[in-house]
Amino acid sequence: MPRRPPVEPAESDLRVGSPATHAAGLPAVLSALRHGVREMGVRRTVKTLRMVNQDAGFDCMGCAWPDPAKRHHAEFCENGAKAVAEEATLLRATPDLFAQYSVAELAAQSDFWLGKRGRLTHPMYLAPGATHYAPVTWEDAYDLIASELQALDSPDEAAFYTSGRTSNEAAFVYQAFVRALGTNNLPDCSNMCHESSGVALEQSIGIGKGSVSLQDIEAADLLIVVGQNPGTNHPRMLSSLEAAKRRGATVVAVNPLREAGLARFDNPQKIRGMVGRGVQLADLHLQIRVNGDLALFSAVNRRLLDADALDHAFLREHCDGVDALRAHHARLDEAAVLAATGLPPEQIDELTRLLVASQRTVVCWAMGLTQHRNSVATIREVVNLLLLRGMIGKPGAGLCPVRGHSNVQGDRTMGIYEKPQEGFLERLEGALGYALPREHGLDVVESITAMRDGRVKVFIGMGGNFLSAAPDTAATAAALQSCRLTVHVATKPNRSHVTTGTAALLLPTLGRTERDVQAAGEQVVTVEDSMSVVHASRGRLEPASEQLRSEVAIVCGLAERTVGDRGNVRWSELAADYDRIRDLIAAAIDGFDDFNARRDAGFVLPHPPRDSRSFATPNGRAQLTVNPLQVLQVPAGHLLLQTLRSHDQYNTTIYGLNDRYRGIKAGRRVVLVNPDDLEALGLRDGDTVDVIGEPDADGTERRAERFRAVAYDTPRGCAAAYYPETNALVPLHSVALESNTPTSKSVVVRLERVGAERNGPKPRP
Ligand code: SF4
Repeated sequence: MPRRPPVEPAESDLRVGSPATHAAGLPAVLSALRHGVREMGVRRTVKTLRMVNQDAGFDCMGCAWPDPAKRHHAEFCENGAKAVAEEATLLRATPDLFAQYSVAELAAQSDFWLGKRGRLTHPMYLAPGATHYAPVTWEDAYDLIASELQALDSPDEAAFYTSGRTSNEAAFVYQAFVRALGTNNLPDCSNMCHESSGVALEQSIGIGKGSVSLQDIEAADLLIVVGQNPGTNHPRMLSSLEAAKRRGATVVAVNPLREAGLARFDNPQKIRGMVGRGVQLADLHLQIRVNGDLALFSAVNRRLLDADALDHAFLREHCDGVDALRAHHARLDEAAVLAATGLPPEQIDELTRLLVASQRTVVCWAMGLTQHRNSVATIREVVNLLLLRGMIGKPGAGLCPVRGHSNVQGDRTMGIYEKPQEGFLERLEGALGYALPREHGLDVVESITAMRDGRVKVFIGMGGNFLSAAPDTAATAAALQSCRLTVHVATKPNRSHVTTGTAALLLPTLGRTERDVQAAGEQVVTVEDSMSVVHASRGRLEPASEQLRSEVAIVCGLAERTVGDRGNVRWSELAADYDRIRDLIAAAIDGFDDFNARRDAGFVLPHPPRDSRSFATPNGRAQLTVNPLQVLQVPAGHLLLQTLRSHDQYNTTIYGLNDRYRGIKAGRRVVLVNPDDLEALGLRDGDTVDVIGEPDADGTERRAERFRAVAYDTPRGCAAAYYPETNALVPLHSVALESNTPTSKSVVVRLERVGAERNGPKPRP
């Protein structure tokens, strides 16, 4: 019986119940198996899940949480299993699909529907003026792209996007090709997620990466989890938090929402977890207002300075800026802090007390800190805290920005960056043997603006779903549609593929689960996790179609056709044997010596602050920084909305339409609002509302329609709703200072009830 995509429920099927009080456990196991069997069938599910995150297997294409030294038989979480099932699905999006549906008809479908069509099987081309994609040969596809690129007046008229799923080897040849073409237009998904972390850490400690290992997490005596929902976005982190708790650690959650994954963890690897007797995680939950984090960490640092609870020896030997920071915080307005955080002073005092008592503190964070106008300042203030306490370069302590995509950190290490440093380019030039462009390129927001303004005419995406991940959906769609050519290297259909330039190409690639056989035999790729561990990944399943090509083969095929061999680079030889790519990486990038010899065992990349308390800042010392308090003003009658994922979602991939942990079933168009705010706005739980962003200076209004208002436990004045549906509300120009990251976690909105009379499902009893 042919496998059929799941049926999408109607808007009226949406159900809202009580949020969960714990994460994982038996429900997670059942959910993982349900997704697996629906997409892959029983046997393939068992076969495939046994190989994920195993030594001889493939790396989970979900988040970037590290693998433990000792792997479990089932070394994956519920959402990892869903990510695998999505890729290893038996559903196929063949040329028949594209013959049956025009691009316009496909664009009218939901993101869930598009993603459930299955794996792309053939290269597809949308010719200028055509209404339907049609099959094309690989050679013709390369010719089409090469001629468009060669016809440009400047290589800067093209933008080359990378999603964090791209392997190290593919990312390295991609940037080598793009730079051979003559541009640094290498926007990537990091621009939209942890760019603020990279900028702040680079300024403070001289390297844009976290400083902890898995062992540090489990050895810490205090873990502060800020602006992160690990239960959904990094679920295996819960096992590390549980291990730390068993050693007596204290966990503090700082989050506007009381997420189930921060409350109790029922570890499905343990009997007691499977029978619902898990471990309480957060000992203290600071239910902070959206964007209140800079105020919180400023207040804590002031208290530490006032109490002289500082590591003076560390500060003297390694840091600059203590006196300026002390003077700045001496003027801190406590009332403004309390207003910005929405927290009682006792809770800030309690957090400070825990910090003073702690010998080994780790601070973990994710998008809740990085996607605000003041994000870089906030993260610098977090670094200030750990520097004041001497918690850098110490076992069981440090900085832990948790990456959301399996190789987003690796891609940046490989050179996927629009603002490469001179030193990096010089060494890369030596390895590649040809001249590289020096002028900085465009990040994501700049690329969208350049496409909109006609300065970028060709867009090439290596994986991902650019349109749905980007802010200001209408503006981004128009920008893509203004291109002469849009090209996507992808595994499954998504919204970016049906929002095309004048011409468009879909190039189907191998997934991480699939065997990658090249001229020199079966190939292995590598990735780098959140903690700078580089490890191998081997596909084990037969490819979904004989027409699929690896990311490396696609890039090398295109490069050979567009720029030809040059310097030390023979594209076909690199595609034939990835060891040759790794030899180039070893020659070009710090920390990859003997890469091929160390590939299978894996290795940790250097991190001077962690390894030797040395700081690659201009003067070789860690920098404490002064970060003036900036509090976002929200007009009366408006709310501050954070966009977030449901539990059945990974970035822009919609696995399903439930959000078990928040009590949402069979739907996604919900906006979570404090009950008192609903009342103050003349609304009720269950009303259908439009969510409306602040109009631009030119009056442009952004509206996301027909959401069910849900009374939910969130601080007054704050709201939450899922992306990509609410990315439409994030103005293109609304970005974080210094990092240019879209402010997707603090969007000023108002709610407008749809229709005079009350409608939509009955309010919750
Ligand atoms: S924690 Fe992240 S990397 Fe690990 S299995 Fe889950 S989704 Fe995959």
